[in-house]
Amino acid sequence: MFDSLSDRLGGVFDRLRGRGALTEADVRGAMREVRVALLEADVALPVAREFVDKVTEQAVGQNVLRSVTPGQQVVKIVNDALVEMLGSDNVGLDIDVTPPAVIMLVGLQGSGKTTTTAKLAKLLKGRERKKVMMASLDVNRPAAQEQLAVLGTQTEVATLPIVAGQQPVDIARRALQAAKLQGFDVLMLDTAGRLHVDQALMDEMKAVADIATPNEILLVVDALTGQDAVNVAKNFSEQVPLTGVILTRMDGDARGGAALSMRAVTGKPIKFAGMGEKLDAIEPFHPGRVAGRILGMGDVVSLVEKAAQSIEAEDAERMAAKLAKGQFDMNDLRAQLAQMRRMGGLGALAGMIPGMKKAQAAMASGAVDEKILLRMDAMIGSMTPKERAKPELINAKRKIRVAKGSGTTVQDVNKLLKMHLEMSTAMKRIKKMGGLKGMMAMLG
Ligand code: GDP
Repeated sequence: MFDSLSDRLGGVFDRLRGRGALTEADVRGAMREVRVALLEADVALPVAREFVDKVTEQAVGQNVLRSVTPGQQVVKIVNDALVEMLGSDNVGLDIDVTPPAVIMLVGLQGSGKTTTTAKLAKLLKGRERKKVMMASLDVNRPAAQEQLAVLGTQTEVATLPIVAGQQPVDIARRALQAAKLQGFDVLMLDTAGRLHVDQALMDEMKAVADIATPNEILLVVDALTGQDAVNVAKNFSEQVPLTGVILTRMDGDARGGAALSMRAVTGKPIKFAGMGEKLDAIEPFHPGRVAGRILGMGDVVSLVEKAAQSIEAEDAERMAAKLAKGQFDMNDLRAQLAQMRRMGGLGALAGMIPGMKKAQAAMASGAVDEKILLRMDAMIGSMTPKERAKPELINAKRKIRVAKGSGTTVQDVNKLLKMHLEMSTAMKRIKKMGGLKGMMAMLG
């Protein structure tokens, strides 16, 4: 997700940062490239245009051009505008009401509605200790109601008993009654989808919404459908009073346009992102973190959060302090590698660590597995303490020694050194942006 957009923007910004002074023409040229990059990522045309106009206007200001680090300032302006475009802060669910709170999910068939209903129910039950009931109003798709019942069993969430032949509005009424009588905190309504937006579907949504008066009407859209997702969202938002959007398949390789355009087109926040088929693969959507990921700064906040779950607090603090100073030696790399092993490999983390994507590319084998992590650890183990603290000491002769000592080759040692260099460059970039704290503040 966002990979090619991230690469394109990274290139534009590297060129901007590379120059000391910037003219208005430089900035305008860069912004034209940004616009093309956004359009290629499937961002809706009016959204891309407005974005670029706004950023250009701020970036050609004299304060920016005359500043000491004009390139950096422009990147900061783009970052802030991206965050705003994505919706600024994470918006949670508005369900602290007299129970039962009603959450209705709407969307096209196959968008992931039923799965998302179960994922959200599981989340609310687990994290917020809510008593949740789910009901399927989908009488069109054969076995849709049974599908939800199965998911209910898997997640240990109650589902409304199925009454054959009942129509959506009547099911909604029955569900509401049952939820009230049985003291549920939250009632989740999974509605019928269609292959395309049609009037019958919209009328059904509205009739159900009239009966159930939902606290949340969430539109579920498939991020992989790009521009179509945006059109669907526009259609729905014009006819049904949506309160938010859930983007599914954010784990796929969508170009990101849907995510970037959604807020501007619907006026509604993206509240959650579906990250996989498993029932716990759903995350609150944080615009700041996503913007950071797009701009190639890595999702440091998520990384630190994830790290905090699996490493000792002391280690986390030490790592944060190092990051803040922009220092990163072989000992730190080693600690990171050990952490990756504990966290179950690089896969989940790639893209979260600044510079990691590039570092990965620097490695010959695309598949980084446990063995490679262990081999890197062995190479660092064969270095002297001095070399670990100052890897630039490692000349050709020392490389041969390290390779011999670790049972690897000089090429392997070179790859490791290159990876370290990439990562420490990324760390220095964070430092320039005002350290981890500054970056965290920026990422929101
Ligand atoms: P519905 O017709 O809208 O109810 O769609 P379903 O909930 O039945 O989902 C359709 C398919 O998409 C299923 O195979 C789901 O496992 C899959 N799916 C749903 N959400 C996600 C997601 O976030 N990521 C991935 N990779 N697959 C998803």
